[in-house]
Amino acid sequence: MSWQQRIDLRLRERRAADALRSRQPVVQGAGRWLTVGERRFCNFSSNDYLGLSQHPAVVRAWQQGAECYGVGSGGSGHVSGYTVAHQALENELAEWLGYPRALLFISGFSANQAAIAALTDKEDRVVADKLSHASLLEAASNSPAQLRRFAHNDVVQMRTLLAKPIDGQQLVVTEGIFSMDGDSAPLGDIAQAAREAKAWLMVDDAHGIGVVGEQGRGSCHLHGIKPEILIVTFGKGFGVSGAAVLCSETVADYLLQFARHLIYSTAMPPAQAMALSAALGVIRSNEGEQRRATLAALIARFRHGAAQLPMTLADSESAIQPLIVGDNTRALHLAERLRQQGCWVTAIRPPTVPPGTARLRLTLTAAHQAEDIDRLLEALYGGE
Ligand SMILES: *Cc1c(COP(=O)(O)O)cnc(C)c1O
Repeated sequence: MSWQQRIDLRLRERRAADALRSRQPVVQGAGRWLTVGERRFCNFSSNDYLGLSQHPAVVRAWQQGAECYGVGSGGSGHVSGYTVAHQALENELAEWLGYPRALLFISGFSANQAAIAALTDKEDRVVADKLSHASLLEAASNSPAQLRRFAHNDVVQMRTLLAKPIDGQQLVVTEGIFSMDGDSAPLGDIAQAAREAKAWLMVDDAHGIGVVGEQGRGSCHLHGIKPEILIVTFGKGFGVSGAAVLCSETVADYLLQFARHLIYSTAMPPAQAMALSAALGVIRSNEGEQRRATLAALIARFRHGAAQLPMTLADSESAIQPLIVGDNTRALHLAERLRQQGCWVTAIRPPTVPPGTARLRLTLTAAHQAEDIDRLLEALYGGE
C-alpha cells in the first residue's frame, strides 16, 4: 500500500464509523459563551472550570508580562528561557502544594511524556489505570518499562499486578479526576497499595487542581496523600496552559538532567508564567473559594435536574458530567440537536473513550449561571 493509499484508507474507515474528528474555528469566547460562525452558543465543552481564562487580573498579568519581557522566552530554560517569572511561579506552586520543588513544562502532555520517559528503565513496570489520559498511556507504552493496565479504579487488580515478580522499580500511574468520566480515583487506597509494594505513585491531577480541595489544592490534598510525582496542568482550572511536575529535590535535579521535553524545547513565555501566578493568586483567595462554591452549586443543580433523563448520567460529582449515549451516530445527532438549541457540546467517541461508550462530555464552569443549566436541561429533555 502506498503512503497515499494508507492515509486514504484510514480516513475512510474513520468516516464510515462516524468517528471522524473535526475542528470548528471559534470566533469569540472561551467562557460562558462561544461564537462559531454567526451564532452564539452557551459553552458546555470548556475545561476552564473556574472561568479564569477571562479573568481581568489574569489577562492584565499576561499583558504586563508581555510589556516587561516581550512575548517569547527566547529559548530552552537550560539556555536563556528561564526567567525570574518562571522561578517565582515554581516556588509559589511548590509552597502551595507542599513539595520541595516544581518544574514547569509547556503542556501536560509533554510533562507526562518527559517524566515517565526519564524515570523508567527497561527492567521497570508501569502499572496504570486503563482510563488514564492518552498522554500517560502513550508515555508508558513508549517508555522502556513494561506497561500493565488495571481496570478503572480497581485497586485489587492493581495490587495483583504490583505483586508480580520484577527486577526493577514500579510506577503506579493514575489521575485525580478522570477526564472523560468525571469520577475520582480512590487515591487513599491506591497510595497505600503503592507504598506496600515499594512502588512510586504518579498522579495527574489535570482536572482537580485549582478546582477541588482546600484553597483549590486538588485531589491529592483532598484525599490526604502526597504522591512522589504530582502532575498539575494549567489548561483547565487555571484557565491558561502549561503544566508542572511537583517532586522532591533530587527528582527535580534528575529531571533537569534527563527530561528531554524540558531540555530540547522552548520555555513557556515569561508573560504566561506571570499570568499563571495571577491565576494561582485568584485560586488561593476568597474569590477562588467563591468560584468553587458557585461551580459546586451548578453541578448540584444539573445533577438534580438531570435525574429523570433517559440517558445514563455518569456517576460524577465533578465539573465533568458525561452523558453516556453508546452509539457514535446517536451521540453525534444528540450533540447536533443541542447545538440547534444554542448549547455547545461535543460528542466524544472511540478511540478517545472505550468502544460502545460514545458520550456527550458536558462540562460546567463557574462562568455559567443557573439559567444556563436550566437551558441545557430543557434542551436535553427535548427528546431525541
Ligand atoms: C488535558 C490533560 C492532559 C494534557 O494537558 P495539556 O496541558 O492540555 O497538554 C494531561 N493529562 C490529563 C489527565 C488531561 O486531562
